[in-house]
Amino acid sequence: MATYQYRCDRDGVFEVRLPMGTALPSSQCPVCGGEAARIYSAPMLSLTPRELVTAIDRTEKTRDEPAVVSAIPPARGRSRGPTPASNPALQHLPRP
Ligand SMILES: [Zn+2]
Repeated sequence: MATYQYRCDRDGVFEVRLPMGTALPSSQCPVCGGEAARIYSAPMLSLTPRELVTAIDRTEKTRDEPAVVSAIPPARGRSRGPTPASNPALQHLPRP
C-alpha cells in the first residue's frame, strides 16, 4: 500500500492509501464530496535505512562501472599460517 495525497480546493489536503500504482489523477474529497486533484511529491525515501541505501548505491555503481582487477587482491585481516590458540589451556593439548 502507498499513501497518495489529494488537494480539495475547499477543504485542503487529504491522504488516501491505495495499492501502489492504482492512484487516479483525482479523487473524491471525504468532507465535501467534490473532486480533488492529486498532489505529486517525492517518495518517502528518508525512511529507508542508511545501510540499505549505501548497499543499493554500491550495487548500481558496480553494475554501471565494474572494477577491473588485474591481480589477486591482498588478504586483509587474515594470517597465512595457523592461528595460535588464544586459550592458554589449549596450548598444552597434543598437536597432530
Ligand atoms: Zn472538499
